[in-house]
Formats: sequence, structure tokens, C-alpha cells
Amino acid sequence: MKLVTTPIEIQAYAHDYRAKGATIGLVPTMGWFHEGHLSLMRKAGTMTDKLIVSLFVNPMQFGPSEDLDKYPYDLDRDCRLAEEVGVDLLYAAEKAVMYPEEFATTVHVKGLTSGLCGGSRPGHFDGVTTVVAKLFNQTLPHIAVFGEKDFQQLAVIRKMVTDLDFPVEIIAHPIVREESGLAMSSRNTYLQDDEMAAALSLSKGIALAKDLVKSDRNVTVKLVIDGVSRNILSHRECEIDYVEIVDKTTLRPCTQITTASVLVLAVKINKRIRLIDNSLMIEG
Ligand code: AMP
Repeated sequence: MKLVTTPIEIQAYAHDYRAKGATIGLVPTMGWFHEGHLSLMRKAGTMTDKLIVSLFVNPMQFGPSEDLDKYPYDLDRDCRLAEEVGVDLLYAAEKAVMYPEEFATTVHVKGLTSGLCGGSRPGHFDGVTTVVAKLFNQTLPHIAVFGEKDFQQLAVIRKMVTDLDFPVEIIAHPIVREESGLAMSSRNTYLQDDEMAAALSLSKGIALAKDLVKSDRNVTVKLVIDGVSRNILSHRECEIDYVEIVDKTTLRPCTQITTASVLVLAVKINKRIRLIDNSLMIEG
């Protein structure tokens, strides 16, 4: 595996791969790899000849009072893990080369970014789409794999790719969870032992919602949201950012529960740790 740190260098590799007829898979990440990241990499690896993983803690997608300065980072650790799953190029660019002083462009997707995480993290998705557009142009992938863990992000990226005609296929990967049910996340490293029960209230909320729907297919959206919210708020550490049931494509609130309904959750634990999770209400 090679470690690459500049757009010029990564683009040269990508052009060279393409000239030789190789297909390229990209997995964009912010590092501190866990099994969720690694399974995305394995999926991309099985679908393409060359696997590029980007590692960039993108300042443009963090708000001023968010955890940019605390975000876990260990390049040696991530290099080791990436090498073990067969990554060809680990692309870890410096902030100064991604966003030189004169940088002046923003990619903005309207509509899909206005609610949910976009509502509580203004500007977040502009940061995401801008950096992903840059990464696509730098790494020239045939496919890019994103996790369903960031459900809204996936919908926003798909829209950007369609609207801007990026010649890249977006592949979704299901959420990878701990045995406890907790969705894997680099931010889980912030959790103290005594915050674990609160953190598990998201996946437990999903299980409760599914049970409610299973026992009554005509259960109302309000009843499910109220039940899940009450459960989460029974942990004094939890503050709800949002609990909503939305259509999986439009992300608009559902008026009734169908096979297209997704429960989406964002919860802050002890005002420090913001966790998200989601699930289709009716699987299969
Ligand atoms: P991040 O490093 O958190 O920006 O995540 C990089 C990619 O990994 C994104 O496409 C995420 O959706 C995906 N990802 C993160 N956690 C998980 C998980 N638990 N299961 C599946 N994909 C994940």
C-alpha cells in the first residue's frame, strides 16, 4: 500500500490506473477506522481492480462549536488497518492542499440538505458535497462506497452525482453494528462506560419501533416517534436532536408507515457526543 498526500500525485495514479484499463473504487473516510469502514473497503475491493481510501478530517463539514479539534486521528494505526484489507492507495491530504487560501467554491445540494442533520448542523452538507466532489475529481473512481449509517449523506451524494453528471456509481453499504447493537462510529471513542446505556438507546429505539410496526402495521407515525423518544429521554444523559420517520428517497416526513419509511435518529449524550442511527421500519 502507498500513502499519497497530494491531489496531483493521487490524480497521476488514477490516470495511470485508468490508462491500464483498471477499475477504481473509492471509499471516502475521516479515519480512525473501525469495522464499518473496513467492510466498506472490502466491498469496494471486491468490485474493482484498484482500491483508494481517502482519509481527511474535513474542516469544512464541521460547525464552529463541533468536535473538529478532538476528532480521533492516528495515521499509523489507520495505515496498518488499511493495508490489512488490501487498500492500494491511502490518500491522506493535508488541509492546506485541499483548501488553499484562495479556495472559493462550494457545492450545495438544495432540498435534501435542509432538514435532519442539515437542520441542526448548518453548512455541514456543503462541506461534505464540496469535499466529495473534489475527491471524485482527484481519484477518478468508477465506484464509490458510502455507509447507510449516514443515511442523509448518502441521499445527498446520490443527488449531487445525478445533478452534476459525475461518472461514478454510488454503492451503499448496510450499517455495521457492535454486538450490543450500537452502530459503529469513530465518535464512539468519546463514550465513557457510564454513557453506554444512553448510547444504546438509539438502537434500542429502532428495535422498539420495529416491534410496534410488526404488532400493528397501521400504527401511527406519531405513536412510534413518541414511544422511541420517551425511551431515549428516560436516560438523563440524552437530548434528542431529532427522531423522525421519513421517506427513504425524498427524506420528507412520512404520514404513514410503509416499506419506504426510515426511522432516523440523532441524539446528543451529555451535550458532548452526537450519535446518529437509522433503519427501515419494514425490512425486506
Ligand atoms: P466517516 O469516517 O465517519 O466519515 O465515515 C466514512 C464512511 O464510512 C461513510 O460512508 C460512513 O457512512 C461509513 N460508515 C461509518 N460508520 C459506519 C458503520 N457503522 N456502518 C457502515 N458504514 C459506516
